[in-house]
Amino acid sequence: MSRRNRENIEYTILMDLKTCTHCPENGPQPLDAFRPGHNRCRECTKAYQRAYYKANRERIRTSQARYAAENRDGVQAQQRRWRDSNVEHRKEYRRAHYEANREDYLEQAKQWASENPERIREHKAKWTSRNADAVNEKSRRYQARKRGATVEKLDYSLIRGRDEACYLCEVSFSEAERFDTKLTHVDHVVPIAKNGPHSYANTALTHARCNLAKGDRLSDRRPQQGG
Ligand SMILES: [Zn+2]
Ligand SMILES: [Zn+2]
Repeated sequence: MSRRNRENIEYTILMDLKTCTHCPENGPQPLDAFRPGHNRCRECTKAYQRAYYKANRERIRTSQARYAAENRDGVQAQQRRWRDSNVEHRKEYRRAHYEANREDYLEQAKQWASENPERIREHKAKWTSRNADAVNEKSRRYQARKRGATVEKLDYSLIRGRDEACYLCEVSFSEAERFDTKLTHVDHVVPIAKNGPHSYANTALTHARCNLAKGDRLSDRRPQQGG
């Protein structure tokens, strides 16, 4: 190796090292330990920033909040852009957050429920009317099983879809009636109270008015309160 080359290499090595003004005790460090143009190494800079944030946390948070309030539209637009481009990341984050704070979430939900009983009742009523068939089917199946009757899991929409007339008055249904849980009921021909099975064979569609007129005497369905 020529003397010139060796000098070049030594020169380059010297040029690629720098001593941090803040931690000179660590001696010369490679250039990539520094941000370009900085005399404090990255580690020292990070430590400095962390200490600064810790010492000024309240002030920084207040000023960030003020900035967000004064630039609400801009900040919201920026947040939306970030959300839209990080859908998966957000899902994962929320899932992890829920797992880590499950107890808190349940506690909060309980708290909310106890403070908003009328909202809960409303929600339950809505859900029940939307799911009237499913709710009825489940409770009838349960009652039949308790009596030791034959039980299958029934899909009431299949029973509603059968091309049959009302089994009580023998008048056909309109399509609208057929699938309206208020106007028509899936009924047990042999009542569950008389150990009738909960099966496709033992169920038929009736007008609600026919079913209610039939009354408690024959029916396995108690008259509904308030009509
Ligand atoms: Zn340093
Ligand atoms: Zn009828």
